[in-house]
Amino acid sequence: MDPLAGIKKIGDLPIENRRLFVRVDFNVPLSTSSLGPGPKTGPSISDDSRIREALPTLKHAMERGAKLIVASHLGRPKPGKKPAKGDAVATEQRGENFTPELSLVPCGARLAELLKVEVIVPEDCIGDGARKVGRDLKSGQVCLLENLRFHPGEEADDDAFAAELASLADVYVDDAFGAVHRAHASVHALPARMREKGCGLLLEKEIAALGKLIESPESPYVAVLGGAKVSDKIAVVEALLEKVGVLVIGGAMANTFLAAKGVDVKASRIEKDKLALARSLLEKAIGKGVEVVLPVDVVVAPSLESTSGQTVDVASIPDGGMALDIGPRTVAAVAERFRGAKTIFWNGPMGLFEKAPFAGGTFGVARAMVESGAFTVVGGGDSAAAVHAAKDGIAERMSHISTGGGASLELVEGKKLPGIEVLRQ
Ligand code: ADP
Ligand code: MG
Repeated sequence: MDPLAGIKKIGDLPIENRRLFVRVDFNVPLSTSSLGPGPKTGPSISDDSRIREALPTLKHAMERGAKLIVASHLGRPKPGKKPAKGDAVATEQRGENFTPELSLVPCGARLAELLKVEVIVPEDCIGDGARKVGRDLKSGQVCLLENLRFHPGEEADDDAFAAELASLADVYVDDAFGAVHRAHASVHALPARMREKGCGLLLEKEIAALGKLIESPESPYVAVLGGAKVSDKIAVVEALLEKVGVLVIGGAMANTFLAAKGVDVKASRIEKDKLALARSLLEKAIGKGVEVVLPVDVVVAPSLESTSGQTVDVASIPDGGMALDIGPRTVAAVAERFRGAKTIFWNGPMGLFEKAPFAGGTFGVARAMVESGAFTVVGGGDSAAAVHAAKDGIAERMSHISTGGGASLELVEGKKLPGIEVLRQ
């Protein structure tokens, strides 16, 4: 099946001169600089990639003369303290979870700079104020609604809250891949009520690339898994064993697999309660004829704080040594499996790549991936960051780097995601 079957693309929707609700993912990292003397500044955006990634869809809609009502969540606002007297009305109007530090106003300002137009941010995402802003929008104008999660109805997938949002717009477009694995009102109950709905350009790219991995991956198919914990990745491993010819396991999770095979990994972190599971996954792989590649050498150091490491064979990890990266012989072994591959999926860094002495394995695997000529997909928040940190134009040469951590893994696990299924006609 075509992964996009039944889903309208923004180009197929009648958005000219209509009020268009665009659900984006502006869940950006924020930093508060309150150091030193002088006035405290509000939170500022430390990485605006997520805003930039939404631009193609927003520009497309503006050029076609839509009236844009852009909406997102930001962070995890929780019910606040009981409002002080006099505050009560204002807080009520802005949602029970109103948290000033998680306002989307800074995102609105950044969006205005990037689009070079005024972006109005009404005080609340629903209610009379938002409705009036929506009604007054002219073709090509943009407003950004306040943080959807200021209202508990968002995370509760509440139908009344969705009805309020629906009253703002005529057409619905979802471009928030990072949010489609959650049945929340703006990506689920809201589109369920809308007749005209579809996906934006970013969501379309995500569904097409990840859908290809699930529906019709070309063989040979090699998957690389790493990262912190086996427990995070059990379902992905199980799903991949059904599809791939080779499964590479690196990163901290490899320690548990090595230990399960009887290797003494010394002070390396392992998940003791997952040893039996690792053993059964390895047996399953044998049953399916999947080759599992584990590290043959690793970079070790006495602690996570160490500033240098030593490369050793996995059989000779010194006492007190922790494996913090895969070694060069392992990278070469992985590169060899990539040669001739048609599809490569990668999730999870091969080591503590945030620190230079332990980044070589991760960057080496990234380089080998783009040099393979295969269809290459990277999923996972830290993995995407690692590919960008690898520099040398490696990120640009990947076929697809997913913008959704949790969502990309759930798709690869073969799950149906609520925010995608609801878009099918
Ligand atoms: P993703 O977000 O791409 O799914 P994970 O969250 O599973 O990836 O794992 C990423 C983290 O795992 C990184 O912060 C990285 O430093 C850490 N990591 C990977 N390998 C090791 C290792 N051998 N020792 C310590 N940390 C590791
Ligand atoms: Mg992560």
